Amino acid sequence: MRKNFVIIFSVLTLAVILFAGYYMAGRKDPSSVRLRIATGGEGGIYYAFGDALANLLEKHMKMMATTIPSGGSLDNINMLRNGRADMAFVQSDIMTYAYNGTNLFSTEEPLTDVYAIAGLYPEACQIVARRDITRIADLKGRRVSIGAERSGTELNALQILESYGMGYTDINVDHLGFSASVNAFNEGKIDAFFCTAGVPTPAISQLMESGSAHILSISYARIRSIISSYPYYSRLTIPRDTYPGIEGVETVAVKAVLVVNEKLKEQTVSEMLKIMFENSSEITEQATGINLNRSTATDGLSIPLHRGAEKFFFGK
Ligand code: GLU
Repeated sequence: MRKNFVIIFSVLTLAVILFAGYYMAGRKDPSSVRLRIATGGEGGIYYAFGDALANLLEKHMKMMATTIPSGGSLDNINMLRNGRADMAFVQSDIMTYAYNGTNLFSTEEPLTDVYAIAGLYPEACQIVARRDITRIADLKGRRVSIGAERSGTELNALQILESYGMGYTDINVDHLGFSASVNAFNEGKIDAFFCTAGVPTPAISQLMESGSAHILSISYARIRSIISSYPYYSRLTIPRDTYPGIEGVETVAVKAVLVVNEKLKEQTVSEMLKIMFENSSEITEQATGINLNRSTATDGLSIPLHRGAEKFFFGK
């Protein structure tokens, strides 16, 4: 009996010492913030960026950061709404619609307890197609992936097709994420796919090596009409050789925005931003080709900035 007591006492003492050592070392403090970051699917930038960011936050802050893979912007909005994520990557257009309760979100309550912490980089609306498809109008009757279910890509696909007088009934629709689209393309199961993401998008870079695909431009007239109907788009030229063998591509873009739940503390947010911008090279190593620019990070945001971001960017 006494022997058992001694063993239990020793084990408990050891556990207390180990816990204290772990805590003092400033590693993951189990009682401190746990941050759940909603990202995207494989082959995209949200996924790679989110992973790099989570690693940085774990390394530099007493924080457990986990990433949640997802279909993209719409999925991430849902996770913020139902409390399954604390931070998320979202397209500026989708975020604004959710915040105002318009467009796709017209039947839902406006999502106003979410704040932007930084605008990150432009996301180009890319339409990757077989070489025999030379114009967007040629997509008629073809098998086309319009993005993962609950992605932002899907809404962009719809709006671009609409500007050409087309809709989902004119194409054979598939809902595939970026990596799945590339696989289906290589297996001959689809003829084209939409992808709204930072460039170069990893999944597209991989496909372009084969030379079997190219990216369709949107005509200037359609670009103008898209921007006048939906002001969250801007015009973007994907520069020549962004992918092996491509000429410049004319298209529209939205912005990737990092947003958080309002419950995050001011100090936590401003510290996270400091770590993100001071260590941006570690992020761009994983999210290759993305430029993070602190001086333009608050430009053109259409939802309010979190107070921690105001403190970080403007010192107030
Ligand atoms: N913008 C895309 C979407 O929400 C995701 C982009 C990415 O995964 O990098 O559909």
